[in-house]
Amino acid sequence: MSSLEIKNLHVSTGDKEIVKGVTLTINTGEIHAIMGPNGTGKSTMAKAIAGHPDYTITQGDVLIDGKSILEKESDERAREGIFLAFQYPSEIPGVSIANFLRAALQARMAEGEEIDASAYYKRLYQKMDLLKIDRKFTSRSVNEGFSGGEKKRSEILQMAMLEPKFALMDETDSGLDIDALKIVSEGVNSLRGPNLGVLLITHYQRLLSYIVPDHVHVMIDGRIVKTGDKSLALELESRGYDWVKNELQPA
Ligand code: ADP
Ligand code: MG
Repeated sequence: MSSLEIKNLHVSTGDKEIVKGVTLTINTGEIHAIMGPNGTGKSTMAKAIAGHPDYTITQGDVLIDGKSILEKESDERAREGIFLAFQYPSEIPGVSIANFLRAALQARMAEGEEIDASAYYKRLYQKMDLLKIDRKFTSRSVNEGFSGGEKKRSEILQMAMLEPKFALMDETDSGLDIDALKIVSEGVNSLRGPNLGVLLITHYQRLLSYIVPDHVHVMIDGRIVKTGDKSLALELESRGYDWVKNELQPA
């Protein structure tokens, strides 16, 4: 088992503090959902953990299996097992999905080591079968002209190939239609297992009825203010966030 420990994490961008002391441990085998109103720092937290250069961690620590990853660049963090699924994935015209994934895997290997092409395609097709993705998909350019659902499919395939220990999935504002919702949830559910921990950011309770989380956390104004099990997500769906805020500031 591996653990991703977030300890008293404070994150700023410019001189504005956005994440104000989050403590949370995710073990492989667990799915944690983070819910919360817009603008409360959920995406900022995920990006800071992945090593995004726009965000500065001013206090606290992030550790994998007890070792801090804060001194590492984002590519090294990826090699340690962190995967960040982008809320707004970029297009890479002219680069096929198959070549992109191959380059991503190659980048993780030691210098001088080469991916074996036939083993690579074997694995790629295994993962595509698992995720029920049509083989024609791999020859398309990364995200170019993709529908929302296809972007999600490409993201899930990337995750399946990279086999991260911890996937940070930010699904907040991506306008998941039913199609995309199904792709994400079927994908995550088929990759779910003892070797994967997931931090799933969403404000759709609906997604959490497909991907049933082990733990649900509510983030408001840069802090986790409430933690519960999957029933908390249902309660938030029916009651909104105001009651949580009111609990914080009793009249
Ligand atoms: P959430 O994902 O919970 O909706 P975000 O983390 O995206 O919230 O944003 C939290 C706050 O931080 C917002 O007020 C947003 O405007 C601000 N913010 C996020 N990223 C940046 C940035 N790169 N530069 C300036 N402000 C930012
Ligand atoms: Mg967000």
